[in-house]
Amino acid sequence: MDNQMIIRLDKKADFLAMDNMKKHKAIALFSGGLDSILTVKWMQKCGYAVHPVFFRAPYFKAERALQSADKNGIELEVVDISPEHIQLLSSSAYGFGRRLNPCIDCHGLMFRKAGELLAARDADYLISGEVLGQRPKSQRRDALDSVRRLSGLKDLIVRPLSQLLLPETKPVREGWIDRTHLLAINGRGRSVQHRLAQELGVMDYPSPAGGCLLTDRNYCLRLQDLIDNQELTLENLELLGNGRHFRLAKDLKLIVGRDEQDNLALENEFQNGIRLQARDYMGPLGLLVGRRPEPAELKLALQIFMSFHTKVPARAAVQMQNFIHGLPQETPWETESGKASQDVVKTYHISYN
Ligand code: SF4
Repeated sequence: MDNQMIIRLDKKADFLAMDNMKKHKAIALFSGGLDSILTVKWMQKCGYAVHPVFFRAPYFKAERALQSADKNGIELEVVDISPEHIQLLSSSAYGFGRRLNPCIDCHGLMFRKAGELLAARDADYLISGEVLGQRPKSQRRDALDSVRRLSGLKDLIVRPLSQLLLPETKPVREGWIDRTHLLAINGRGRSVQHRLAQELGVMDYPSPAGGCLLTDRNYCLRLQDLIDNQELTLENLELLGNGRHFRLAKDLKLIVGRDEQDNLALENEFQNGIRLQARDYMGPLGLLVGRRPEPAELKLALQIFMSFHTKVPARAAVQMQNFIHGLPQETPWETESGKASQDVVKTYHISYN
């Protein structure tokens, strides 16, 4: 699609807030990325009612999407699909992308969950910002078709940015959407999207990378460690995106915050285990999660934890406190600890770095 075509459609869109077009409402799958912003803004500009939804799981949290929606004047509903999505990590029908990202099953699940919301949101069909050919595996023509089949709602899905190149579905057939409002963007280039962004006044959008941790190399190493140790629980996954992680034993891990933001995120998600904090020094938060440590394991954990306290000369007191279901238990207790060597730290660190 060239620039002229966008302009032509844009002019048409200016006078198309017609009554019959407002009778049907779309639920939009919103990721916070440029294509999903353009899809929502374009359809709204053409006069259609759109209800954008972000589906969250522990490895794609809502903050980025909420910020992106806010900056672009989009009202967003957030729906948690963690339990269903975690299942995909062990039973993905279409397999994984470059890392542990089951993109085809993930999109199928999101459409299915969006479909379950149709009646409650008084909506009739589903839209998304997928662009034909944009991603080598998950946005090929056959992959888009697999997503439609997985969703169980294949006749109700419209991809406005590429729909002119895809099979027609009910919302177009029945005239809920005017065909001239649909676009034919195709391929990996981004220039058409950037021009459309300019025309729609979309100035602020996040970079394409960074939305889903299932495509992050180090995160996936930590995730694989959870899978290998049969610890794939929601509680463990909520802690996995922040901090440095150390595997001390099969069912025992140490997590150490990297910075203040990490500490805050870990503190918010921490439910069960032992919380570690240097008594007299500012520094990272430590969490021991899993079973109760043996004395030698606790000693090792404290030494690794203290090695991230640059201001501690050699030894210092560490305060510990048990937490159950996010609540502190008995009075904190403390002990002195030295630091582990860098070799020991590396041995237990779950990281490629
Ligand atoms: S990158 Fe992540 S959020 Fe996006 S489709 Fe793949 S698994 Fe789902």
